[in-house]
Amino acid sequence: MANADETVKIIEVGPRDGLQNYPAVLSTPDKVRLIDDLVASGITAIEATSFVRADRVPQLADGVEVCAGIQRVPGVRYIALAPNVRGLEAARSAGVDEVAVFAAASDEFNRSNVGRNTSEALAMFADVAREAIALGMSVRGYVSTVLGCPFSGHVPISDVVAVVEAMDAMGCDEISLGDTIGVGRPHQVAPLIEATAAVVGTDRIAVHFHDTYGMGLANSMAAVEAGVRSVDTSIGGLGGCPFAGRGAKGNLATEDLVYALQGSVHDTGVDLDRLVDINIWLAGVMGRPLPSRSAAALASKRDG
Ligand code: MG
Repeated sequence: MANADETVKIIEVGPRDGLQNYPAVLSTPDKVRLIDDLVASGITAIEATSFVRADRVPQLADGVEVCAGIQRVPGVRYIALAPNVRGLEAARSAGVDEVAVFAAASDEFNRSNVGRNTSEALAMFADVAREAIALGMSVRGYVSTVLGCPFSGHVPISDVVAVVEAMDAMGCDEISLGDTIGVGRPHQVAPLIEATAAVVGTDRIAVHFHDTYGMGLANSMAAVEAGVRSVDTSIGGLGGCPFAGRGAKGNLATEDLVYALQGSVHDTGVDLDRLVDINIWLAGVMGRPLPSRSAAALASKRDG
């Protein structure tokens, strides 16, 4: 039996990070069903939507309707991305109680993404965080490009640490370290965790790895070995990053992490069979198979 300190908590990012990076738009009822079904499978933290400009991210233009449609289960964290104060206020009106802000550990990436260097981007997000906290909301911080930047290449750990310090200072509770383009290798993970946990403690660190080079699971397991107990994953492995390259694989699949940890002291408590049900349904809605290998293997055992 896993004890609470060892259990790995999944932060499901499919409904936001996954769908945002997929060209087709899911209907609002399908998004609501996706979120409710994921929570019913045992997910206790889920990134539900984003409050960004609809012309920038048309896939998530229905954040208000999605938040109104889902069944709120007590104790579950429903998180929404809010890049600015206007987004935060929209999230608040939609009844969201946790928002996520993001900043890259690389000036070049921040300039490309939000038209500001890292310190300017952090100042903008500090305003969002300050207002969120004043409204009684929690704030999750995403640090992107922690193991590499598509523009500047190598990202020094000290640059990641500086962003973690800034996010801690602005009041972020959980800080998720993202290998946005998925170039990291397992041996790079422990030093990253050690340096950032020295600032905020491993219990406030999450990791967010991508499968561009097939390292999403290996890197996540390395983080778990290093003491991290919160891991971002996406149903089916949906997601990715426009900068990771054409045809790049997406986030680590929720099914793959749940499978990897099943029966260990780190067991996530999420029902893998129900995830496979969701995967099969979602693949039908999207009209294509989703990348998760565990789900594909388990689904094929159901046939015949
Ligand atoms: Mg991602």
